[in-house]
Amino acid sequence: MRKTSRIPGFYKLSVDERIKKVQEFSGLSDEDIEVLRNGFSLRQMDRMIENVIGKVEIPLGIATNFLINGREYLIPMATEEPSVVAAASNAAKIIREGGGFKTSSTEPIMIGQIQLIARDPENARKEILENKGEILEIANDQDPTLVALGGGAEDLDVRIIETESGKMVITHLFVNVRDAMGANAVNTMTEAVAPFIERITGGRVYLRILTNLSTERTARAECVIPKEVIGEEIIDGILKAYEFASSDIYRAVTHNKGVMNGIIALALATGNDTRALEAGAHAYATINGRYAPLTKWEKNKDGDLIGKIELPIAVGTVGGATMNPTARVSLKILNVKGARELAEVMAAVGLAQNLAALKALVSEGIQRGHMSLHAKNIAMMAGAKNEEIDKIAEILVKEKNIRMDRAKELIKKLRE
Ligand code: NAD
Repeated sequence: MRKTSRIPGFYKLSVDERIKKVQEFSGLSDEDIEVLRNGFSLRQMDRMIENVIGKVEIPLGIATNFLINGREYLIPMATEEPSVVAAASNAAKIIREGGGFKTSSTEPIMIGQIQLIARDPENARKEILENKGEILEIANDQDPTLVALGGGAEDLDVRIIETESGKMVITHLFVNVRDAMGANAVNTMTEAVAPFIERITGGRVYLRILTNLSTERTARAECVIPKEVIGEEIIDGILKAYEFASSDIYRAVTHNKGVMNGIIALALATGNDTRALEAGAHAYATINGRYAPLTKWEKNKDGDLIGKIELPIAVGTVGGATMNPTARVSLKILNVKGARELAEVMAAVGLAQNLAALKALVSEGIQRGHMSLHAKNIAMMAGAKNEEIDKIAEILVKEKNIRMDRAKELIKKLRE
């Protein structure tokens, strides 16, 4: 039987039944399931950050229906926000009817910055460029593992920037980080080459750190949605929504927040640095001079809807927090070969999330989809316990009156 991520009624299953489906799809071991159920210990967490006293837990859900470059994917998503997983699954279901996502990506090139103050900036720039070979060699001496894997520092560039206190010489070190996110790898290299740069220029180096605007490491995804699948009215609405976001920063930022709902949930599930992704994505949204939507929506000549996304995605499948037990299981569920494939899947998830949001916004609004989980939250906030929560939430939804005061009334009644 062909493996498929199209699992109708997945949402209606119990947690145990869902785990079983995912186990069948991804070949998870009993140990992996144990990790999904229990997470990892405070002892393990105590090795991750400083001064640990507890843990904050976030649900891990599975988005179904993803067909990317002809391959089936189940998407692990860690998020506290209701509707994100359902919306991604829903949009992926629509998109697979048009053949699924097509994705691509650049080589995983990260940029390290070395800030130099020199008396003669032009001459310093010349010295650095003339000594490029040696600088790259010093950088690569720091990471024989990366070099053996075909990665390492490949090139450099020098810019002179104007600041309030005068000119600064900024060296950009271009490092192929293979399957790592690469921040540590790049930072180690920038620190290692700094003394040499000081020596050949006679200047003083200050900062030595990667930039999170990884313009050389982007991922793209696109999809075609036949008009028969989504309807011409929705298509026209989505195009209007896109024009709105393209012309108004207040709308564009929320448009992009929706895109990041998906990307960040997958990043968190796989132990990737969510802040790095957010910083890079929002800066990239301004790359053409003004803050713009990260996706593009248009119609082809047949009137079908075309969606595209492009953004920097610096993520790893090795190193950093990707080595944590839950992240390892998430990566196993995804079954990606490496960081580039993960970045491409993330781009697809971002595009799906955006489609779901826009489709809801131009039709029923997004609140309806939020209601049942929202009602459970309101019931809990009003003081409902255990079985009361579902009972109260159901009444609130049925009455279309999801309010704290009503929830409190209902709790009182139920308890009487
Ligand atoms: P890392 O140092 O843990 O792992 C990368 C190393 O793994 C490489 O240097 C290489 O030696 C080795 N490696 C083994 N197999 C590899 C493969 N197939 N491909 C590539 N490398 C391989 O982690 P990292 O990815 O360099 O850094 C990521 C961490 O840095 C994240 O946890 C991030 O939060 C953190 N960080 C981020 C920033 C920032 O974004 N501004 C700054 C500092 C630190």
